[in-house]
Amino acid sequence: MSSGAADRVEEIVTTFRDTVGRDPEGVFSAPGRVNLIGEHTDHNEGHVLPFAIDRRCRVAAGRRGDDVVTLRSAQEPGEPVTTTLDALPRARGWSAYALGTLWALREAGLPGGHGFDLVVAGDVPLGSGLSSSAALECAVALAVAELSGADIDRPTLARAGRRAENDVVGAPVGIMDQAASLLCRDGAALLLDCRTLEGQDVLLGLDEVGLVTLVVDTRVRHDLADGGYADRRAACAAAAGALGVPALRDATRDMLEQLDGQLLQRARHVVTEQERVHRVVELLRAGRPAEVGPELTASHASLRDDFAVSVPALDAVVDTALEHGALGARLVGGGFGGSALVLAPASAAEGIGEAVARRAADDGHPRPVVREVHPAGGARREPWTPDGRH
Ligand code: ADP
Ligand code: MG
Repeated sequence: MSSGAADRVEEIVTTFRDTVGRDPEGVFSAPGRVNLIGEHTDHNEGHVLPFAIDRRCRVAAGRRGDDVVTLRSAQEPGEPVTTTLDALPRARGWSAYALGTLWALREAGLPGGHGFDLVVAGDVPLGSGLSSSAALECAVALAVAELSGADIDRPTLARAGRRAENDVVGAPVGIMDQAASLLCRDGAALLLDCRTLEGQDVLLGLDEVGLVTLVVDTRVRHDLADGGYADRRAACAAAAGALGVPALRDATRDMLEQLDGQLLQRARHVVTEQERVHRVVELLRAGRPAEVGPELTASHASLRDDFAVSVPALDAVVDTALEHGALGARLVGGGFGGSALVLAPASAAEGIGEAVARRAADDGHPRPVVREVHPAGGARREPWTPDGRH
């Protein structure tokens, strides 16, 4: 554990002691993630390739003798949230992510009728597309499962996090974020089959060849975003129906000839994106990560031209990054704003950051926030114990 990470664990333990009035039983953490490639393939039962990043949500936790649950977060200052086990599914606001996860785990058979004291502190930026929500859910899921002595496998923990977000928060997200946060290994991406939930590690090897990944948050979000997402999902379902396949993941290039107009474009994005995911995996496995760049840029072009989910601020980041030495770049997430991912030589990173900021100013867009992210390990119990043995 780096000294920075150890300091943050000590800090959350101190907060727990100060606010709850005793030692926690354990400290757990789960990372945010970024999806290298495979955009809008998840809801077509295809593949995605996320990796966990070096920003984490930490949870200090202790069981209680009653059925009360208390919850505090350094990112949401104010009165702690206090509730009971029965009331978990009625949680609202930020607490719904954490309390909803505890509810979903109990629904899945988590033993023990006791409550918990939970103290949260994270450094995954909220709402920047790096999945602070899954980091919170997965850290809570691991904490309550381990402290309850429950032998619950990680895919089940991931499903509980997703269920919290779907059923308690009310956000229709897929399983990628929670799977990445719980299953990723340090230095590797996770090739996740969204139909079967089977995952395979794919070593990234970026550091070794002097490459870095930047996530550029445009801070632009279109009013269209929710409706646009629903529309694209519906178009994909319609295209699959027209082709007579269960999901577009089963469609081939040849089949696309049966479609035309917008359905052809939407389906072509998904079919070619699936191909790009597999090409990227082959390149990484062959130890040729620099060649991943053009695949990322091709993904962006497909999302912009065929899937029609880009916006000028995202196109500007991608174009500017490429003009300033990036090997590849693409929008990440659902689109209609949000963030772009840039693959670049470490030596070009600073120049790219400055150039995208200048371009945003010239175009009258908000000033983007540029973050370098590095691959990291998935959710874990931190090496801290109440008796001081680290
Ligand atoms: P993203 O997952 O991309 O960061 P979301 O909108 O899905 O964005 O989730 C962000 C929300 O998750 C926040 O607005 C907040 O409600 C909740 N959240 C995430 N991390 C924390 C945290 N450390 N403390 C409190 N709430 C958090
Ligand atoms: Mg989220």
